[in-house]
Amino acid sequence: MASEAVKVIVRCRPMNEREKALGCKAVVSMESARGQCFLQNPAAASEPPKQFTFDGAYYQEHNTEQIYNEIAYPLVEGVTEGYNGTIFAYGQTGSGKSFTMQGIVDPSTQKGIIPRAFEHIFESVQCAENAKFLVRASYLEIYNEDIRDLLGADTKQKLELKEHPEKGVYVKGLSLHAVHSVVQCERIMETGWRNRAVGYTLMNKDSSRSHSIFTVNMEIYTVDEQGQDHLRAAKLNLVDLAGSERQSKTGATGERLKEATKINLSLSALGNVISALVDSRCKHIPYRDSKLTRLLQDSLGGNTKTLMVACLSPADNNYDESLSTLRYANRAKNIKNKPCINEDPKDALLREYQEEIKKLKAILAEQMSANNLSGLLPAETAHLEVKPAPILKPQLDLEAEKQLIREEYEERLARLKASYEAEQASRARLEEDISSLRNHYDLKLSALEENLRKEAAAMRTETTPDETPLPEDSVAAADEEPTSAQDPAAPRTVQDAGGVSRGSAGAEVAVTAEGISVPADQQQVLARLQMLERQVVGGEQAENKDLKEKQKRRKKYAAERRMQLVAALQQSDEDSSDWVLLNVYDSIQEEVRAKSKLLEKVQKKLRAAETEIKDLQSEFELEKIDYLGTIRRLERDLMLFQQLLDQVQSLVRRDCNYSNLEKVKRESVWDEEAGCWKIPEPVIEKSRLPAAVPALPQPKPARKSPLAESGELTPEEDRYKLVLNRSDSETVASNYFRPTRASRILLPDPTTNRAPPGPAGAPSGASPRPRPFRLQALALAPPTPTTKRKKGKAGPNSRPL
Ligand code: ADP
Ligand code: MG
Repeated sequence: MASEAVKVIVRCRPMNEREKALGCKAVVSMESARGQCFLQNPAAASEPPKQFTFDGAYYQEHNTEQIYNEIAYPLVEGVTEGYNGTIFAYGQTGSGKSFTMQGIVDPSTQKGIIPRAFEHIFESVQCAENAKFLVRASYLEIYNEDIRDLLGADTKQKLELKEHPEKGVYVKGLSLHAVHSVVQCERIMETGWRNRAVGYTLMNKDSSRSHSIFTVNMEIYTVDEQGQDHLRAAKLNLVDLAGSERQSKTGATGERLKEATKINLSLSALGNVISALVDSRCKHIPYRDSKLTRLLQDSLGGNTKTLMVACLSPADNNYDESLSTLRYANRAKNIKNKPCINEDPKDALLREYQEEIKKLKAILAEQMSANNLSGLLPAETAHLEVKPAPILKPQLDLEAEKQLIREEYEERLARLKASYEAEQASRARLEEDISSLRNHYDLKLSALEENLRKEAAAMRTETTPDETPLPEDSVAAADEEPTSAQDPAAPRTVQDAGGVSRGSAGAEVAVTAEGISVPADQQQVLARLQMLERQVVGGEQAENKDLKEKQKRRKKYAAERRMQLVAALQQSDEDSSDWVLLNVYDSIQEEVRAKSKLLEKVQKKLRAAETEIKDLQSEFELEKIDYLGTIRRLERDLMLFQQLLDQVQSLVRRDCNYSNLEKVKRESVWDEEAGCWKIPEPVIEKSRLPAAVPALPQPKPARKSPLAESGELTPEEDRYKLVLNRSDSETVASNYFRPTRASRILLPDPTTNRAPPGPAGAPSGASPRPRPFRLQALALAPPTPTTKRKKGKAGPNSRPL
């Protein structure tokens, strides 16, 4: 499998108003033709600037359109062919990550990479020949190491990461929304973006602290010249990362600091993954260290084409951050991925859709007329009918064979023509049917609404519907049937065809008539068919030559630009390489001049390398200070919890397993999958109630027999135990919890005029309501018939503390 390096580009935004007002100087410069970026240390003006080379360097005058056409285009094109792709933006807060990913509407050249990717995908889908696509989108964010679905019914719900042997890491319960056009995609993106913004306003937080991932899932169904069908699946992740600034610099404290630590946790985990991937000695890649790295696992060193956009501020007061971003990016470009086309995905929904479409059409055909059978098969299923050309057997008579082929060809042509005409006719009929059906439903619906209105007016009752309506443009209507197909265990929208044979239509009808999943009613069948067909797109502009030409041009442009960059870099390599030493010179002076020049260059390089070492050391020092700060804070937190525990522990009843914390600690285990500790449930092991009424005489403590000492019960003790248990559970408990309501009513307390205190001194409070029963019951919990419950695991009637 061919490997491919992660592509990295750098983008520097213009100076903002604040930086201008502060009189900041620009320390970033670029040589875009060579993809080079220079960063001058403002504190050491005499030092040469640091130099980095990337797959693209975009300065203030460049726009997102250029970036997309030059570098993102081939990646997204790959997605439409069946490769996975990831584009992520990295950089400090305010450096232009969202500007690059989401972009702005005006000017249109600054439209973001995400909306451009939508346009690109649908353009390719529409131009495709002999191919059908199912495009679905999802949008999630990771905030404080919690995953939330930005398009889900409940955007606050935390979702879990799961791993599937075939599909890899996925988010359980993440909603997927079928999209059929650019507009729908944009609407979905806006809905998610808004949900994000609303969440932050409510929580007084800001989005620069969360990572967001917009994913476009594609399933591609193609039919080749031999009539063979193929299924592919691809995923495009569009990632807007949280700000990468160092926490000590932001002056964050309290909750903010905690958040910053978690953001940095994800980002430093990302950094560690990148470092580990490019270090050939490293055997372990720490993907599991954060949710972000787990989700992006395939994008870093896996089966994905990846592009990283490193965003920079040009200002001198952001020098440290810009340097750290550039170093990060510089490391990332050495990661090798292994992208390949994802053939024949196991859980493809598109295959199920195709099969169901086929079945529904068969049912319709049977219900209408046998003549229209072929007419009902539209383009995508008609492909299924195409049979490979028969292999001709060698024959002696060439002419006869030719004749045979000609005849067959004519026959097939005539058949195709007839089927085409039939299709046209039946399509027209189908459309008529559908429109009359729609009218029928509309009429019924309006009549129903009218009735309801009348009833409501008559009853004058206030009724508010339970359901919260979807935001009017949210996720493009319910008919899209959001699925959580990322969860391989989740139920599918289309039921499994099970044992339905792929034989004749009639046979399928017979099976479906048994009621597997296809509705019998013709109108319902039509509605379902229509819904399914709407999910599948592709080939609408297959005849549009202009669009195809445009596509070709764009592809060519990206390839040419890549060649130019490679040529420019080669040139600069030659300029500075050792060829000077190998050259033949006409005179000694010329040789001295050339070699002095080379010496100067090498000295410059040496100086740059020395400064780099110094810089790295001081950066490590800063990072160490950061980490030590985090450790100190965590230690303080730990101490607080330990002190709290020490205080609380004395309040825990002795027969509860939590009174022995050391034991609980020993029994606790770290769950790698869930990322949390599995701790024993609190269990009350044994308690005795004081006798509320004279019960059986208490047995005198017998002298301990050797058997008792060894932990086993003597037959006599066994008997006592039985009696005790009986007295505990039957006599004491029944007396203790004897209903007092009747006695209270009959014998009111003469002094307080309130109910007398309950048995065993249940206090009489100022309130007429009894004290919460749970607490009393807990403090004097009657023993269970068993002597001891299972340790570590709570039984069904174990009581939480
Ligand atoms: P981030 O997402 O990295 O925190 P934003 O994308 O929100 O940063 O950008 C911060 C500000 O800078 C925004 O007001 C944005 O419009 C502006 N900005 C960012 N990049 C550019 C650019 N290339 N050209 C013009 N303005 C930009
Ligand atoms: Mg942002």
